[in-house]
Amino acid sequence: MQCPVCQGDSKVLDTRWIEEENSIRRKRECIQCNKRFVTYEKIEDKPLVVIKKSGRRELFDDSKLLKGLAKACEKRPVSIDQLKQMIADVEKELKNQYTEVPVSEIGECIMRKLLQMDEVAYVRFASVYKEFSDVQTFIREIEVMKERK
Ligand SMILES: [Zn+2]
Repeated sequence: MQCPVCQGDSKVLDTRWIEEENSIRRKRECIQCNKRFVTYEKIEDKPLVVIKKSGRRELFDDSKLLKGLAKACEKRPVSIDQLKQMIADVEKELKNQYTEVPVSEIGECIMRKLLQMDEVAYVRFASVYKEFSDVQTFIREIEVMKERK
């Protein structure tokens, strides 16, 4: 690792594993100018790949999900932090089961959690996600939801 001041070589004085950030923190010292600095190495876990309805594959996109969920939760007593936590939980759960996950599975997983949080948000999210073609299907979904509770 180059020194940020003189670009000289540095040596590692101390290495620490920071569990909550999944990273390694290293204290370093420049061999030339003796300047001390700290570096972080972030350990990336393997990404979750989503298989879309079209068969195309893309990386799990939590910001896209958050946008959709925030819309469903508009004016509902659900905070953005709760939603972020929920998405993180969903991602973790899915990663334990899949390396490539069908998009429908993500939707189901989200809806299960949303149902516990807020019924109105659940219905809103389901109506967008499931693309109900008519009122009957929509009503059926609400009945299924009532049974699950
Ligand atoms: Zn230096």
